[in-house]
Amino acid sequence: MNKQDSLSKTSKDLMLKEPYYGFFLLMLHKSWDDKIKTAGVCKNGINFQLMISEKFWTALSEEHRLGLLKHELLHIAFQHLTTFTMFADKKLANIAMDMEINQYIDKDWLPEGGIDIDDYSDLNLDRRAGSRYYYDKLQQAQKDKKEQGSSGDENMDKLLNNNGYIIFGNDLKDPIDIEIARDSKHPIMLQENYLSKKFEKYFQVFKKVIPRNECRNPSACCGCYFSIYKKQ
Ligand SMILES: [Zn+2]
Repeated sequence: MNKQDSLSKTSKDLMLKEPYYGFFLLMLHKSWDDKIKTAGVCKNGINFQLMISEKFWTALSEEHRLGLLKHELLHIAFQHLTTFTMFADKKLANIAMDMEINQYIDKDWLPEGGIDIDDYSDLNLDRRAGSRYYYDKLQQAQKDKKEQGSSGDENMDKLLNNNGYIIFGNDLKDPIDIEIARDSKHPIMLQENYLSKKFEKYFQVFKKVIPRNECRNPSACCGCYFSIYKKQ
């Protein structure tokens, strides 16, 4: 089944199981975009647009596809695209909104890595509250973590830590360069496929590989790798 057919199938399955979402599916323009890591919704005129990474989608199980689609539709149903602008801290707003809507999704349907309120039980958060409530609680958690070293919940501490950018630059070497590189006391030997694999889990903001002939010492390195990744 190709990606389009599998997305249509999941849409139909969701409508049959939970007809309420059919209304939002009608207004949804779907597009594929591998520049995004997972999926997202945005406004498109008077309608909404769903963007999905094909790589992400095809790796999901049927149940997780249903959960992902329902998750994105819940963002629309809960007016998150409008209220998002009212929150100053966009990272916390994203977490708060996911925390709010994922409570309406069956746990078996939630893809790995989704925000689950049960993971932060030490914060004693109210259930089925609004995203403003969770946003305020997250701001407090961030403040406590800054001032006291912990938000009071280990998982929340980890979640709040997980941000920032990685800026990376290094020479690349082919096996034929290794002896020369050793002689020139230039011992770091990296290859592009190794680096790409290492950084796969991060969102790629920028990447450039400078070819051998443009490098400063073409006899000892086969290229230079520059990249910026966003942790998310
Ligand atoms: Zn979301």
